[in-house]
Amino acid sequence: MEKSVPAHLAQPFRSLSPGVFRASTIVFDSYEDFVGRKSRQPDGYSYGLTGTPTNRELETRIADLEGARHCVVVSSGQAALIASVLPFVKAGDHVLISDASYGGLKAFAHDWLARLGVQIGVYPADIGSQIVEWVQPNTRMICIESPGTISMEMPDVRAIVAVARARKILTMMDNTWASPLAFRPLEHGIDMSVEAATKFFGGHSDLLMGAVSTNDFALYEQLREAQATIGLAASADDCFLALRGLETFRLRFEQQSRDTLQVAHWLERHPGVDRVLFAPLESHPGHAIWKRDFSGSGCLFSFILKPGPEDAIAALFNSLKTFSIGASWGGTRSLIAFYPASIQRARKFPPTDQAIIRVSIGLEDVESLIADLDHGLTQYAAQCESIR
Ligand SMILES: *Cc1c(COP(=O)(O)O)cnc(C)c1O
Repeated sequence: MEKSVPAHLAQPFRSLSPGVFRASTIVFDSYEDFVGRKSRQPDGYSYGLTGTPTNRELETRIADLEGARHCVVVSSGQAALIASVLPFVKAGDHVLISDASYGGLKAFAHDWLARLGVQIGVYPADIGSQIVEWVQPNTRMICIESPGTISMEMPDVRAIVAVARARKILTMMDNTWASPLAFRPLEHGIDMSVEAATKFFGGHSDLLMGAVSTNDFALYEQLREAQATIGLAASADDCFLALRGLETFRLRFEQQSRDTLQVAHWLERHPGVDRVLFAPLESHPGHAIWKRDFSGSGCLFSFILKPGPEDAIAALFNSLKTFSIGASWGGTRSLIAFYPASIQRARKFPPTDQAIIRVSIGLEDVESLIADLDHGLTQYAAQCESIR
């Protein structure tokens, strides 16, 4: 007695949203397929760790945005940074990182790579062709971030790449600030573009994800192998959320960029503010480079207050109602974070000896964001002699 398939199950199903394929195990049709499963990499499916069709769909979307042939999505932006460095260096190699690198990359380089015998060199964050003075015969890789984390210096990516290419030095760039909507690193000769998809791609402060994109198949193979060896899985559910985030990415980016410029211009004129660190402003020393290379300004910038006591800073932060206090950025809700002066003073090439405040502008009404900051800065000024 054969059971017939119910009619509705025989119908084709199509939807506008991607399917979520969850898997640890992937099953094979035959003994031969199973034994040869490794040959399915770097694109195919052999075990859940290196992805399912949901992961591949996200990788394809991100590769399109980056103008890349290949992309690997991993569990976080930090995982993407490690995947873009660790497979490519060995003991005795020299790796250059920016003095304003993302903190997690700095820690990985100084605390882990150095212990494994890799020499770490630190270059000033606003460098250009002078990078050549930091290059050694054993320099294997230059890690670039533009602009610098928190302090927002603009390196000259073109000039750095020219030096690296002439010496066959590998380059990776953390492009999270600009996103591929404002800067496409591979088109500027960078070998690997890293994005913390946690930020703009996810866009709603509710997932962690990273992506490394490249045009070089050999690098892609090594990235996929690193994903398997280090165990940098990205969950299919989170890939789905990132795909959903990307549906509105361009709109969010445009709106947030506009509002961010407005807030930054307003802050620049405020008597309580010493300096706004944001290359899209004409007052920024990196403005010409930003204008030459970048087509957008994004949602993240920093500023330095006129000097004041810690109590005054606490009063500013604690009076805010629309801004939430927290790290990370790129979501729909505006955030503010505090980085004490000690962080800058501990740097090799400190851009300031003052504390830095960083804001991420979300999608709230921009006038209410400005009113919130205005109220906070009034609380600050009330406790500061420097402003009266
Ligand atoms: C947040 C961030 C990262 C790390 O991303 P996570 O997903 O939080 O690990 C890396 N680089 C930059 C520039 C970032 O802002």
